[in-house]
Amino acid sequence: MTTFLGMPATAPRGVGHLRGDQPFPRAAHDALGDSQLRRNLRHATTTIRGKSGRVIAELPDWQRLRDAGSAIKADVMSRLPDLLAELESRVTEAGGVVHWAADANEANRIVTDLVRRAGSERVIKVKSMATQEIGLNEALEDAGITPVETDLAELIVQLGDDKPSHILVPAIHRNRSEIREIFLRAMPGVDPELTDDPPVLAAAARRYLRETFLSTSVAVSGANFAIAETGTLGVVESEGNGRMCLTLPDTLITVMGIEKVLPTWRDLEVFLQLLPRASTGERMNPYTTMWTGVTPGDGPQNVHLVLLDNGRSAVLADTVGRQALHCIRCSACLNVCPVYERTGGHAYGSVYPGPIGAVLSPQLTGIEDNASLPYASSLCGACFDACPVKIDIPSMLVHLRDKAPHPPAERAAMAAAAYTMSRPRLYAYAQRAAKMARIAGRRGRGLPPPLSGWTAGRDLPEFPEQTFRDWWAQR
Ligand code: SF4
Repeated sequence: MTTFLGMPATAPRGVGHLRGDQPFPRAAHDALGDSQLRRNLRHATTTIRGKSGRVIAELPDWQRLRDAGSAIKADVMSRLPDLLAELESRVTEAGGVVHWAADANEANRIVTDLVRRAGSERVIKVKSMATQEIGLNEALEDAGITPVETDLAELIVQLGDDKPSHILVPAIHRNRSEIREIFLRAMPGVDPELTDDPPVLAAAARRYLRETFLSTSVAVSGANFAIAETGTLGVVESEGNGRMCLTLPDTLITVMGIEKVLPTWRDLEVFLQLLPRASTGERMNPYTTMWTGVTPGDGPQNVHLVLLDNGRSAVLADTVGRQALHCIRCSACLNVCPVYERTGGHAYGSVYPGPIGAVLSPQLTGIEDNASLPYASSLCGACFDACPVKIDIPSMLVHLRDKAPHPPAERAAMAAAAYTMSRPRLYAYAQRAAKMARIAGRRGRGLPPPLSGWTAGRDLPEFPEQTFRDWWAQR
């Protein structure tokens, strides 16, 4: 439990998409005013939840699969440096080149240099959370390179000059008539008679993307998994766009968070059962593409792997918080979260929204830059129940709330409460005093300053007529 990987620095400011422009409560307040957004979200999350629940119920050993996934991830975190060194050796032996990126700036620089060296002014991209996290598209554009997102939902977000709002369904906040408008406005060569029929919209995107796949020599991807024992990388996706990106171009650059490594092929067997059922509600993933270095004359001939830290070592250094690195980005926790269902993903200000974002983003950036996110939860525990790798998100939220900055008055009040509660006689006096305050008419009101902020959004509980101690003494 003492694994460290490099210096535990947090993700740098001014680059990437881990920090929002405003705290969660203010952003959520604005989002709640958008009734169309709430309708879209409710429809989408309810549909995915239902589908996923049905296929999970088919597996009698689902809970044991969850246990296995959790155990494999805990093992990976306990020996991450060794596994990454093994992965680097195997990828290199197979003809790939491994690069280590301490943070977003370094990763962006590495990828931009590689694309320039390949002589391309355009790259095709497979949907990737890691490249969104580091703001790779912006870095490429600054260097005069055009990134083209090839996942349909990511394409909608990119053409709409928008931000993703869900890990798996980035355009979940858009309905089909909004998508039609975006395509008419921004998609090159689109049919002006385009309707909002989903197959028609998909066909328009396919036409545009086919031409791009066939004329671009560099692809950038993320990776869902990497197998240390063989140096194999893997991407799972549903549309086949990933398969095109991973096989057609001459140069393939993969940006992967260091936590994605798995020790062996056998481990993959567990995750390929957990991921599709928990995420899209499918029995198996439609497209699973695996590649190991370079195969002469077949597929990309220049294969690069960029291993990204960007705050992950800092997360690993926290023995409670490191569970956030177990995440396989299935988005099941988003789809069951009552807070996410009402606010949508943009309110979280990070590429990682919902319950997992509320625990991952503050750890990657340092708690002071995302201090409101651990409070973006009712602590109902639905995320814990839904998580296929059993990440205890509620406990981590409480842990991070403790680490978040608190006003001195609140800290002092909590210290006084802890002191009182750990001394039975003093606690009994305090209860009597509280009862007196109730009789004196403070019932239903907030606390006086400087504690009034605490009751601004909460009701002060009423003190009972009789305390348990008095009740017990009477008997
Ligand atoms: S925390 Fe669990 S449920 Fe949420 S996205 Fe990650 S793996 Fe899925």
